Amino acid sequence: MSLHEVVPGVHAWVQADGTWWLNNAGVVAGGDQVLLVDTCATEARTRRFLAAVHDATAGGTVRLAVNTHLHGDHTYGNSLLPAATVIVGHELMREGLRVDPVIDGCPPLWQPVPDWGAVTRRLPDITVQDRLTVHIGQRRVDVVHPGGPAHTTGDLVAWLPEERVLFAGDLVFNGLTPLVFMGSVTGAIAALDWLASFGPDHLVPGHGPLLTAADIDPVFDRIRRYLRLVLDTADAGMRAGLTPLEAARGCDLGEFAGWADAERLVPNLHRAYADSRGTDVDPVAALTDAVAWLGGPMATSV
Ligand SMILES: [Zn+2]
Repeated sequence: MSLHEVVPGVHAWVQADGTWWLNNAGVVAGGDQVLLVDTCATEARTRRFLAAVHDATAGGTVRLAVNTHLHGDHTYGNSLLPAATVIVGHELMREGLRVDPVIDGCPPLWQPVPDWGAVTRRLPDITVQDRLTVHIGQRRVDVVHPGGPAHTTGDLVAWLPEERVLFAGDLVFNGLTPLVFMGSVTGAIAALDWLASFGPDHLVPGHGPLLTAADIDPVFDRIRRYLRLVLDTADAGMRAGLTPLEAARGCDLGEFAGWADAERLVPNLHRAYADSRGTDVDPVAALTDAVAWLGGPMATSV
């Protein structure tokens, strides 16, 4: 993992290879004040991130942190931030983390089973419904919700309009299988158009390598094609009376077969079925089906 300077004073913490629990995070320095975008899943990884932030900002004060969504790879490290750091998140993200059971002990869906270390649940101090603008030194950061469910129900992006840098969180997986089972498949497609409308020069995805303007269209097109495959597979599966797992077993992933975390097809189909039927997704049941599709626990190196 390493810190990349996107534009002067604005950095991305990129954790290879971006698979399960290995997220990207962000650092925005304004004078001697610092805003972070997300933390990491484990104590060890968050401490490494915070040490790199300290070095890159000459010991700047971490005044603000924005959580792009509730998932633990972006939020479990919140508790390692200084006590005075003010955390911002969507109101549904806050509620989701409040009741998230995985921080108290990860179920054996992954191998090895992640050990978070000494982290505790630390919820946002300020919640956002639609948008909020914060200022860190001379920099402006717009914290904006896409308008509906996408990766989750409580997604936020952090947009620096002067620097034209967009921290997209998990609305963008670059070169890995997207995950939308706690959000919406059609909402995730719509969110890509919404992200493109910012016209970013630089985009920091939630997982995978950084993007510059010229990369964005082809990467987004590929994600759209994948999400449409999920919708088409779900439609055909429902017509044929198949379960999401059965539909996944019959699906040819084609150009997406090489993407890491291919088993996400199964929870993504659970979401497409649920949205079509007006029901909810049981996250643990959906991930248990992913393990069944894979024939064993999912891989992680967190
Ligand atoms: Zn993530």
